[in-house]
Amino acid sequence: MARAAGPERRLLAIYTGGTIGMRSQSGVLVPGKGLAAVLRALPMFHDEEHARARGLPEDTLVLPPASPEQRVIYTVLECQPLFDSSDMTITEWVQIAQTIESHYEQYDGFVVIHGTDTMAFAASVLAFVLENLQKTVVLTGAQVPIHKLWNDGRENLLGALLMAGQYVIPEVCLFFQNQLFRGTRVTKVDTRGFSAFCSPNLPPLAIVGTDVMINRELVRKASGKDRLVVHSSMERDVGLLRLYPGIPASLVRAFLQPPLKGVVMETFGSGNGPTKPDLLQELQTASQRGLLILNCSHCLQGAVTLDYATGMVAAGTGVISGFDMTSEAALAKLSYVLGQPGLSLDQRKELLARDLRGEMSLPMTDEGPPSLRRSSQGLGVAQLLRLSQETDAVRDALAPRLACAAAHAGDLEALRALADLGSDLSLQDFNGQTPLHVAARRGHAGAVTMLLQRGADPGARDEDGFSPLLLAVRGRHLGVIGLLRAAGACLSPQELEDAGTELCRLASRADGEGLRAWWQAGADLRQPGYDGRSALLVAEAAGNLEVVALLQSLQGGAPEVLPGV
Ligand code: ASP
Repeated sequence: MARAAGPERRLLAIYTGGTIGMRSQSGVLVPGKGLAAVLRALPMFHDEEHARARGLPEDTLVLPPASPEQRVIYTVLECQPLFDSSDMTITEWVQIAQTIESHYEQYDGFVVIHGTDTMAFAASVLAFVLENLQKTVVLTGAQVPIHKLWNDGRENLLGALLMAGQYVIPEVCLFFQNQLFRGTRVTKVDTRGFSAFCSPNLPPLAIVGTDVMINRELVRKASGKDRLVVHSSMERDVGLLRLYPGIPASLVRAFLQPPLKGVVMETFGSGNGPTKPDLLQELQTASQRGLLILNCSHCLQGAVTLDYATGMVAAGTGVISGFDMTSEAALAKLSYVLGQPGLSLDQRKELLARDLRGEMSLPMTDEGPPSLRRSSQGLGVAQLLRLSQETDAVRDALAPRLACAAAHAGDLEALRALADLGSDLSLQDFNGQTPLHVAARRGHAGAVTMLLQRGADPGARDEDGFSPLLLAVRGRHLGVIGLLRAAGACLSPQELEDAGTELCRLASRADGEGLRAWWQAGADLRQPGYDGRSALLVAEAAGNLEVVALLQSLQGGAPEVLPGV
């Protein structure tokens, strides 16, 4: 997150409709055209003198100076038709994303002026459709039209323009009543009050008061190198099913029928539901058919857990935990995950369980290797690396160490979080070790697989010239050796030459496992040691008959190299 630099910041304000620009027609409010003209007449939204001096075109407005050295200039793009947001669907939201994409290079940030009724859905969908955002996207709207004397539209729109204009917050956000929220965390909670939105499970990214307070450690970090990707192929056949006490199994069955491909099931409390066998059977049948069922709570605050026997995630029904996601975010995520082409069902489930756009806080694990989420004095990896721009140098220096620490713990989640934040998982720490060295030394096959899949170099050398393969051999991690070999890793000529003495040492100690590891890594078991004797001779001289037999059998054949990772 950064305070945006430069004397001029250009924004595109996409006006889609909503109460903010509505007019009364036959006693009811309908979307109103010409928002730019309304704004042009309001001095807080337009500095006519400056615009004239700059020769700005008709559709382009300029805010009065918020700081002496910077101007926010914005163009209002009015959609045709304008919508009451209750009529908007994924189709319109994808079009908004495509509009952002086609103007992405021209503007420094984007404001989407939208009706409040479905703004939380819109923000969630946009967050999943727009991947690798490097610029700020802020949705806003109003409960009362902007041309009414007492309204919330002016404050909300001005705030959204200033946030998008003055800060680089590379996320889809929602600005309302002086608060900037993450788009995937909001829900509408008031039909008439000006504080219409809340973000029950994540504090606001920014709060505007006398000062603008940015919650820097929460703001997601742009990956820096990746280009914007617009995922237009969102799946439409997704649904939302709210359980209620006594809900009949027949109704659930009817709801879960094809063409439905995914459903967000809103459950009681911490993810509980009726345990009636017929109901559970329906869920199980649908899940076995390939329907994705994501469990979110009715409750605004808190997460789905495994605390109760009535917990739907644990009921063997194939239901996936949505943790503390809002239903809006969960629905958008389902649509995104199902829209990704060529994934298996398991891969889709795996994606659903991951935090992709800051939409959920995954629980801290109590078992297994200590996750980095819990270590580092309570600072999560993600938080640590989302430090403010001023500390970029610290962050960049920490990333390789954190990646090595995650590899040491075999913490796939932390490695993934680091990769998602744009960290290069091939970088060396101060010892010249890469995360692959560390994972190989510790024998973490899962981490090795993941690192190799993400392009880690199997031939990297640390400060002592050691390769990950040599470290895996020393640790006798046969599975990891196989993975590295399959990825093309080889022992260097020097390592192969030095192997002779090491093989003799292992043979004298009857260390069959160690000998097998060298063999698996491609060493020639006949390689003589420093005194010219081979491992076989050493084993015979020591009377280690088992080792003699092992060496004879291994020398007769080459190790099998698995197909590449
Ligand atoms: N029905 C309106 C809409 O969502 C409500 C609003 O904008 O506040 O478009």
